[in-house]
Amino acid sequence: SKRGRLDRYLAVKLQIHRKAVRELLLADRVYVDGAPAKALDLLVDEFSHIVFDGQVLQANKPVYLMLHKPVGVVSATKDTEHRTVIDLLDGDARHELHIAGRLDLNSSGLLLLTNDSRWSEALMSPDQKVDKVYRVTLSNPLNEEYIAAFAQGMYFGFEDITTQPAKLTILDTHIAEVTLREGKYHQIKRMFGRFRNPVVGLHRLSIGEITLDEGLKPGESRTLTAQEVASIG
Ligand code: URA
Repeated sequence: SKRGRLDRYLAVKLQIHRKAVRELLLADRVYVDGAPAKALDLLVDEFSHIVFDGQVLQANKPVYLMLHKPVGVVSATKDTEHRTVIDLLDGDARHELHIAGRLDLNSSGLLLLTNDSRWSEALMSPDQKVDKVYRVTLSNPLNEEYIAAFAQGMYFGFEDITTQPAKLTILDTHIAEVTLREGKYHQIKRMFGRFRNPVVGLHRLSIGEITLDEGLKPGESRTLTAQEVASIG
């Protein structure tokens, strides 16, 4: 979230000069978080509650959701072809949300949505080292070589990067659990592509300490608990 001075916020929002803003504050016509605002340089952000002459200019509350993303729905807020994850949610506030960590169109599982950009930036920051766990279903059988190759990292010439060590556990002949600390473009599909083993199912189980609620059917969502929110950042 972006913090800024109250006088700048009001000048832009009300289309008035900064001098006029000073007059409003002196006359106690502006309330921030329930108290009359006196200081022009008071810092406000997207979650400050700002009232002018009894009219709420901004009442945004932080929102954090987990969604069980179904296959075939796009991780985007707008799309001309497919339904988006925003279409699966109710309420006006859904249009203010952004996605913290996309999933491919044909992937499913845990997707986090929020209007708190500071939180999502912390979550996505490469220094944070948040583990993401995926259950992957493959066309061909797995073997021990996959474990070593994922642990060692793979070089991708297109971006000139070597992937961070990733953990692969074989759950069944065609099913693996993969833990990544990064998320390069189509990373999992491309890593299995090295073995010419097409991914037929990709399901995200968790991001850090936030695990997809087993009670959520595909397309369903719930708000995060305070503990889940606090586990990031
Ligand atoms: N890796 C992929 O290839 N796709 C995803 O959706 C997530 C990780």
